[in-house]
Amino acid sequence: MIFLLTEQQQRNLILQGDVKIIFKHAGFSNKVMFRIMFNTAFIQRGNYIKAGKMELSPEDIRKDKGKIIPPDFIVYIHFDDICTRCSPYETEIEDLCDNCKLEIGEETLDEWRHVKQIMQAHDFPSAQLAHQMLPNVDPDLLQ
Ligand SMILES: [Zn+2]
Repeated sequence: MIFLLTEQQQRNLILQGDVKIIFKHAGFSNKVMFRIMFNTAFIQRGNYIKAGKMELSPEDIRKDKGKIIPPDFIVYIHFDDICTRCSPYETEIEDLCDNCKLEIGEETLDEWRHVKQIMQAHDFPSAQLAHQMLPNVDPDLLQ
């Protein structure tokens, strides 16, 4: 089943940061079925979120033994970028266009700058040290 937002809904719905989507029964009961929570910073390449049954809330829904939601149930949520010029994966913070900077807000941009400083100052462990820290992980993945 595919649900699409109208063009007006798309224009009025800009997501940023922590997001909670509540899925309800359509019709008589309007009862909450489940929730999906994510942060827009973790939307993967391809611009979508994939949530299997184990990613749904509340936790009870995961333990329904397939009575309410089948075990192979998957929700995909696809997103559009708000800007055709800036890339969330490649555009540096200072190179964002004025519209993106305005939409993101100076406070959030300052948080991103702070995170970037921390990442740049961080020494990543050597492959040898990484293997000592994670002995059960394939060493080729730690290069
Ligand atoms: Zn932009």
